[in-house]
Amino acid sequence: MRRPNIFTLESLRANCLITDSGCWLWQGYLEGGYARARQAGKKVLLHRISFELTKGLIPDGLEIDHLCRNKSCLNPEHLEAVSHKENTLRGISFSAINSRKKSCINGHPLVGDNLIIDGAGHRRCKICTTITRRKALKKFRAKKR
Ligand SMILES: [Zn+2]
Ligand SMILES: [Zn+2]
Repeated sequence: MRRPNIFTLESLRANCLITDSGCWLWQGYLEGGYARARQAGKKVLLHRISFELTKGLIPDGLEIDHLCRNKSCLNPEHLEAVSHKENTLRGISFSAINSRKKSCINGHPLVGDNLIIDGAGHRRCKICTTITRRKALKKFRAKKR
């Protein structure tokens, strides 16, 4: 059983310094550069909590990587679930290929604010997602008329 979260994304963000690059730098306690806090008497890594609050539970065996290389950053957009090194040789699974992609099928770079990780752990392009959504909305509106 997982313990219930006492944190919300808003409460985390409120204790962060937001940088120009969009990083949420934790202003509280750091350990080894990572944002740490106590929850129900247990030490927790806050970037993992930020990830779980926005993208769902981290699958077993996956760890959270900072795309922005700021260990204390809590912006969920900058966080990515990656497999442990021992799992990377597991082979040519779809998600392994997917996680190596550096750009989407339309050539948009999958970094920083443009990278979305969905609930299934797939990397998605924000630009393309927005375009698709807009098209769907247009269709929907056209139907309504
Ligand atoms: Zn960041
Ligand atoms: Zn794209």
